[in-house]
Amino acid sequence: MATTAKTIVVQKYGGSSVANLDRLRSVAERVAATARQGRRVVVVVSAMGKTTDELLALARSISPAPPRRELDMLLSCGERISMALLAMALGELGVDAISFTGSQSGILTNDRHSGARIIEVRPVRIQDELERDRVVIVAGFQGMSYKREITTLGRGGSDTTAVALAAALGAEACEIYSDVDGVYSADPKVVPDAHHLPELSYDEMQELAEHGAKVLNAQAVSWARRAGIVIHARQTAGSSRETRIVPGGEADPIRAEGLRARAVTATRTVVQLRTARRGLQALSLLGEEGVALRHSRLVGTGEAASLEATLVRDDLPDWPHTLARLRDLGTDLVCDEEHGTVTAVGAGLGSNARVLAQVGAHLVACGLHPVRMEASSLSLCTWLPHPEVEEATRALHSLLCHE
Ligand code: ADP
Ligand code: ASP
Ligand code: MG
Repeated sequence: MATTAKTIVVQKYGGSSVANLDRLRSVAERVAATARQGRRVVVVVSAMGKTTDELLALARSISPAPPRRELDMLLSCGERISMALLAMALGELGVDAISFTGSQSGILTNDRHSGARIIEVRPVRIQDELERDRVVIVAGFQGMSYKREITTLGRGGSDTTAVALAAALGAEACEIYSDVDGVYSADPKVVPDAHHLPELSYDEMQELAEHGAKVLNAQAVSWARRAGIVIHARQTAGSSRETRIVPGGEADPIRAEGLRARAVTATRTVVQLRTARRGLQALSLLGEEGVALRHSRLVGTGEAASLEATLVRDDLPDWPHTLARLRDLGTDLVCDEEHGTVTAVGAGLGSNARVLAQVGAHLVACGLHPVRMEASSLSLCTWLPHPEVEEATRALHSLLCHE
């Protein structure tokens, strides 16, 4: 029977879902059940439990700023362990399965090691194996650059593998399984009374992901938007609820009284760079080093141009090396790593001056010390000393996130 687009489902299982052999066997049973329904299944797996953190620590104990190419060679092994074990577990259940690395799956990326972007997916081998009625297991978080080097996609990158494959295969569904049954109005581990959100727009989810909500990866959401793929965020074991990430339609209008957000999220530590001059040179060095900026502002021209830029260190394992190069530029660099951010996401939120004023006043009334606020039409981002980030998340959630 020819493979029809309608019958393919891509399921992604995150690190906690395959943290030990019992969980891995449960995933195998779930995959086997889906395959027995007559659907063709492509499974994307993350590294088991904390494997990626452990591999990173191993690298750091050898070198404080490990070369990104070698780091990618190391980190990509985590997902390969999961893929091979899951294929074996499926075999034990009588399901014909085969595992592929990212490069075998035709995932082509740019050459930015440790934070590569997928450029193209050519899933020829996957399609061949699906035609043979096999379940295909793919190692998430990795690909191959056009220079034929192994790359990794940045933390949480297995989500992106899943969405990009779903798009390339014309899959009927892309299901992302983790330890939560979808997206909440805040991280339930930080805000226990956060509520479940059955549906979110691509815009809202991307804004949340870019500001630290790791439940879904930002690059994955932007792929889903471009390909028109609906993401179903679900829990591996337990609840049958889900969150669907869908095209936005009409933005949820802010009510007349204004104080309302869809969700609140946080990033514990952000890096803020300020150069008093030579801002353009600093920007091009950051570009050369493949640093993704969350925010930047260049003011002035020529040698006198000053730069202010914000970035998140997670995907910059060799940051000390980049920082040393920046200092050598002679820009009077100031680098602040003492703050984190708490961001409220909701249409119209950041353009409402009254909301901004009330948020600032509320944080201060809670005994917190916001040092900066940045507003865009979809979000309001507040900077605080990082020991205050969790408390500020709870404070903003109770102020802005009514069910
Ligand atoms: P996986 O390893 O399966 O990819 P992650 O740990 O990356 O899973 O993502 C799931 C985690 O995301 C949850 O355990 C939760 O603590 C966290 N999280 C952060 N923000 C949110 C949110 N708004 N809604 C739900 N979970 C969130
Ligand atoms: N294993 C990688 C990480 O821990 C990728 C992923 O889990 O999506 O970031
Ligand atoms: Mg994840």
